[in-house]
Amino acid sequence: MIKFINVTKVYEDNGAKALSNINMFIEKGEFVFLVGPSGAGKSTIIKLLLKEIDPTSGTIILNDMDITKVKNRKVPYIRRNIGVVFQDFRLLPNKTVYENIAFAMEIIGSHPKEIRRRVPMVLSMVDLSGKAYCYPDQLSGGEHQRVAIARAIVNNPPVLIADEPTGNLDPDTAWEIMKIIKDINRRGTTVLMATHAKDIVNSMKRRVIAIEGGRVVRDEEKGVYEYEV
Ligand code: ADP
Ligand code: ADP
Repeated sequence: MIKFINVTKVYEDNGAKALSNINMFIEKGEFVFLVGPSGAGKSTIIKLLLKEIDPTSGTIILNDMDITKVKNRKVPYIRRNIGVVFQDFRLLPNKTVYENIAFAMEIIGSHPKEIRRRVPMVLSMVDLSGKAYCYPDQLSGGEHQRVAIARAIVNNPPVLIADEPTGNLDPDTAWEIMKIIKDINRRGTTVLMATHAKDIVNSMKRRVIAIEGGRVVRDEEKGVYEYEV
């Protein structure tokens, strides 16, 4: 589902070598934590997958497609294969919960009838059916993130990327969010989650890929966090 083959990334502006010859293979349906200290290269991996940046060398395969060979105008097609959630939620403040989610379907040209069917379905999956007509500033942090997750999966992407999804949440709320992400994974979506949430990583006993200084230093089936938070 996701393959990094000998991927190196040097940022041209300052010459920083963010990734050195990374190899990483993630199968369909896996749940993978990406851990490592600040500056290790985690965000660079995520930006490469979203094709926000290109590698200096190497190959990146997403869903059987070599995205390093895809022309920039085709990037929207790649993005259809990935749902993303961020630490800071990134909802549109002047749209309701319903509209925020519907918008993700509108931009890929979904039929209005399909939007009316699908949005209530994902709202119920994240347990927010009662908040469809609220605006983001009327929601708690956990509710924000649940909307962001609903938006990320509404187009049924095979891969969900989560970049520190619990970073702004208290521990109880963080666990609620993890329960939802686990559910999404159980239904078949491949999940790659970058995180510093030591307790979550250590209690979930999932695959852990640890990055340090732009290299994979550990890759364990039921891994642990191991860094000081
Ligand atoms: P992490 O997400 O693990 O904190 P990053 O991928 O953000 O790590 O950073 C990896 C390395 O690349 C760091 O040395 C960082 O300073 C450098 N870096 C990240 N983004 C840029 C950028 N846009 N321009 C130059 N250097 C960058
Ligand atoms: P349908 O066959 O009606 O199109 P879907 O395949 O879209 O239904 O969804 C089947 C069930 O799985 C629904 O309960 C839906 O909310 C849920 N679901 C759909 N997509 C995802 C996803 N990416 N991750 C987790 N659950 C999903």
